[in-house]
Amino acid sequence: MELLARHDVVVVRADNPGPFTLTGTNSWIVGRDPAWVIDPGPALPDHLDALERELSARGGLGGIALTHDHPDHAEAVPALRERCGPAPLAAARAADLLLADCDAAGPMTTVATPGHSPDHLAYLVGPIAFSGDVVLGQGSTLLIPDPGALRGYLAGLERLRARRPELIAPGHGPLVTDPLAKLDEYIAHRLERERMVVDALAQGLRTVDELLAAAWPDAPKALRMAATVTLAAHLDKLAEEGRLPDGVERPPWPLPLGRVGQP
Ligand SMILES: [Zn+2]
Repeated sequence: MELLARHDVVVVRADNPGPFTLTGTNSWIVGRDPAWVIDPGPALPDHLDALERELSARGGLGGIALTHDHPDHAEAVPALRERCGPAPLAAARAADLLLADCDAAGPMTTVATPGHSPDHLAYLVGPIAFSGDVVLGQGSTLLIPDPGALRGYLAGLERLRARRPELIAPGHGPLVTDPLAKLDEYIAHRLERERMVVDALAQGLRTVDELLAAAWPDAPKALRMAATVTLAAHLDKLAEEGRLPDGVERPPWPLPLGRVGQP
């Protein structure tokens, strides 16, 4: 908390709780005269009111940075600009300021962290990492299958770890006060899941149902779709590495997900 105060950061949490959004989307406001917003969140009128109040107390909106363009993070961009005036949008795609790894945007610098989505960025302000959906306050994240998604995700976690953040301010859920341990846990969790998938394949399991039962026995029903999608990312990585046996059923993609990242 003290680190947040020292770097003049506050959170405005949106009222959009759900299995993917946990307690709701965290919109982070950084600095003042003017302030930047990381992930304005869903376009809910109460949330926009709260953002506008905080921004006007801080000398207005200097820019908007997106960790990625899923609607639970990005939907409020047009409405916020309408209310607070035209401010540049910074993101990895479809933005005024196109960002890659180690770029500057307002008071932040970027860390490329693909995997949850190909355009995903984390932002650093001093020792605080704004991790979007790459590291959540609780549980693990959904990987969207895309060529190289899982390899990119693991590399992004390592890249973030190499910057040695002291605090992670996630897109959903509580602050992570032991970032290095949490990043190690995420990397270990992903590799453990891979080991379970490899074991299941070695036992001759080939269908999506069999592989999910063997490698995600702990997935609650609400997250079964997320596990299915993440299984595809794991199978893609094994295929890219020449480690996937023949005859494995791949979950169809895209699934009829609707709005990814929304409850
Ligand atoms: Zn999200």
